[in-house]
Amino acid sequence: CGIVAYVGQREACPIILKGLKRLEYRGYDSAGVALLSEGELKVFKKKGKVADLEAFIGDRNTSSHIGIGHTRWATHGEPNDANAHPHYSSSKKIAIIHNGIIENYASLKKHLINKGYEFHSDTDSEVFVNLIEDIRENSKVSLPEAVRLALHEVVGAYAIVVISHDSPTQLVAARKGSPLVIGVGKGEYFLASDATPIIEYTNEVVYLNDFEIAVIKDGVLDIRTKEDVVQTPYIQTLEMEL
Ligand code: GLU
Repeated sequence: CGIVAYVGQREACPIILKGLKRLEYRGYDSAGVALLSEGELKVFKKKGKVADLEAFIGDRNTSSHIGIGHTRWATHGEPNDANAHPHYSSSKKIAIIHNGIIENYASLKKHLINKGYEFHSDTDSEVFVNLIEDIRENSKVSLPEAVRLALHEVVGAYAIVVISHDSPTQLVAARKGSPLVIGVGKGEYFLASDATPIIEYTNEVVYLNDFEIAVIKDGVLDIRTKEDVVQTPYIQTLEMEL
């Protein structure tokens, strides 16, 4: 339902939690964040409100300059901790947040289970992240390329943001049918379902189009289509009410 992600010099977790609260008006049943520090992806997720997630995190170490966060409105699988986002891939090397519905998830899941993938939730979203991992491992391609190829196999609607344990400056996002906005700051980027979590940091935004993939790496934003055609990002300046 709601997406917030951050990469830059600041602490990611407080920015993401605050952003998720700004998206609360959309309605949701659970919330979670994935943070990357020292090569390890840490996922904290909880059924309930963002405040419940904060209580669950407590004083655990969340120090990180990159992260993804989500508020879920369940479509596949009941609202519980396991079905909350982010979802790890089987190897825990990749994590995903996903808004929308993957219609062909059952057949993809069957195929992945036959290949040895393990699932810990009932969601369609966990299938998406394992599909990306399977493509990356088998085709020995980069994460953005694995995401791009995965988009050719999924049917449905999505806004996703993906993070990998070995890329501390990289976020990969894509959309079809579900909105996704990129906030362009000074050496930092914000991603969200709408601009409300972003405007307090920057009024320069790029609205991702359907079938586009955005890769933020080492402070550079690259947008291309799922056919791998590079797009020039159209940066809009939002009118801010401060
Ligand atoms: N289909 C996904 C799920 O059930 C995402 C739902 C959403 O958009 O929040 O977990």
